[in-house]
Amino acid sequence: MSRKFDVLILGAGAAGLFCAVEAGKRGRRAAILELADRPGKKILISGGGRCNFTNIHCTPQNFISANEHFAKSALARYTPADFIALVEKHKIPYYEKTLGQLFCDRAATDITNMLESECLEAGVQIFLNTRTKEVQRTTEFVVQTGTEEFRAPTLVVATGGLSIPKMGATSFGYDLARQFGLKIIKTRPALVPLVLAKQDQRAYCDLSGVSAAITVSTGHQSFREKMLITHKGLSGPAVLQISSYWEKGNPIRIDLAPERDVTSAMREAKTRNGTTARAAFLGVLPKRLADRWLDLHEPKSWTNQALEKLESDVHGWTLLPADTEGYDKAEVTAGGVDTNELSSKTMESRKVPGLFFIGEVVDVTGHLGGFNFQWAWSSAAAAGRAL
Ligand SMILES: Cc1cc2nc3c(=O)[nH]c(=O)nc-3n(C[C@H](O)[C@H](O)[C@H](O)COP(=O)(O)OP(=O)(O)OC[C@H]3O[C@@H](n4cnc5c(N)ncnc54)[C@H](O)[C@@H]3O)c2cc1C
Repeated sequence: MSRKFDVLILGAGAAGLFCAVEAGKRGRRAAILELADRPGKKILISGGGRCNFTNIHCTPQNFISANEHFAKSALARYTPADFIALVEKHKIPYYEKTLGQLFCDRAATDITNMLESECLEAGVQIFLNTRTKEVQRTTEFVVQTGTEEFRAPTLVVATGGLSIPKMGATSFGYDLARQFGLKIIKTRPALVPLVLAKQDQRAYCDLSGVSAAITVSTGHQSFREKMLITHKGLSGPAVLQISSYWEKGNPIRIDLAPERDVTSAMREAKTRNGTTARAAFLGVLPKRLADRWLDLHEPKSWTNQALEKLESDVHGWTLLPADTEGYDKAEVTAGGVDTNELSSKTMESRKVPGLFFIGEVVDVTGHLGGFNFQWAWSSAAAAGRAL
């Protein structure tokens, strides 16, 4: 015997839960099938347990996609202000940490509780410990879970990306897209720490834990934020951001003292305190990093030419990372279901009517700072309102 619904949603993550609410509120009998034993597991670990649930400065420029225009419509029709209104309706206390990033004051469970209670109110049924194994399309979609069969005329795929496999991330959404003849933009780990080449690891990685305010660039993209040295390479917000743009084989360029004139700062320190050039340089960068930098790059004598070279090296430290730390450590997966396959208004497949893709499985990847959840809410609302 099979269970029948108006809408089946695969995955009870941020996108799946929110889409179900929107569909349920419109009177659709919606069911979510989730392989884990509780909904929204990634929400619970997000933002260090406090869920950076949106960003008030969200613009389409905060997203990476082969089609830079695709996300505009959904983002304009369900905005950060809309989600904030929902959070406020549930009296969830929140605060702006930095750069427009909104976090829960208490814990991410506030967001999962909110979504679960909205689902309950909208009459959504959530089936946990229910892994979708197979999908067929006859006159409707038929979903097999191994023990049960579910049927509905509409299917929403919200199975997320490949990051953090130990939390149950699967390639199911991409496999299903391929099964129905939809193209996939090659996936890659994004918002992920970078691994340095062996010689650079030997030179810097014992400084693990040291951080610095930098500007990092690759190609035409750059970010000004903090960098953190790790035991394998580099992380911190600036490096996570640039990792989403970095391609293996390309260098990254780090300005260790953005907008600072290192030579003048050193000259000033020397005149004011009568310190040595080395001591003066230690005031320019975080001390341990400055120390190491001079151990490796200190000129034989502090001629004007040497100062000029130091200035240019500090502003243009060029590294060739060996790799990223991969899906195990990536916050998101870039690439995914090709947006040319989907309607930007509804997220419905152009080829297969009734089949929708939302959230991270789609080739839309947000910058660090609450943008990925905003994409989950916006794409889910676009689909949920169209079901
Ligand atoms: C450590 C970490 C911290 C993060 N912090 C933030 C943050 O603070 N702010 C932010 O904006 N973004 C953050 N992100 C990114 C954000 O969590 C994701 O972009 C977002 O969760 C994507 O939502 P989604 O619903 O598309 O996918 P997911 O949340 O991954 O949900 C997909 C669901 O589908 C289920 N599923 C998969 N396959 C099947 C199957 N075959 N059958 C049934 N169910 C299946 C999975 O179990 C999962 O529950 C973070 C990510 C990580 C890993």
